[in-house]
Amino acid sequence: MKDILFRKSPMTDHGPTSISEFHAHIYFEGATARDHAYALRAALLSEFGGTPGGIREEPGGPHPLPDILVHIPVDRFANAVPYLMLNRAGLSILVHPETGSPVADHTENALWLGAPLAIDVEFLKAFEKRAAQRTA
Ligand code: ZN
Repeated sequence: MKDILFRKSPMTDHGPTSISEFHAHIYFEGATARDHAYALRAALLSEFGGTPGGIREEPGGPHPLPDILVHIPVDRFANAVPYLMLNRAGLSILVHPETGSPVADHTENALWLGAPLAIDVEFLKAFEKRAAQRTA
């Protein structure tokens, strides 16, 4: 799948210039919400070109609740995200770009459907630092 490529922001002249994919993190708490999260996952995989990501039955990484990750190809964003908007049934969903900058991707550049949750930014900063050290 081709990345979305674009020019640097004219306001800041910095920041990422490509998005390789989007993540949809579907959060759940309790059996009913869990069932609904799994149903959304199934729809994203079967109807919206999504590919499966990790399923956390407990909070983990920067995520404060259990969540299901689905990878959304860039060319399916316009179909998948409105579907989630209309069918989230009260669940909180984090939609974020993948630009190679985990902190910005999960914070200032992220999109929340439903109530935003508190992402562990310090976890992401440590993750980003380790990744930078590996590629240095
Ligand atoms: Zn993610």
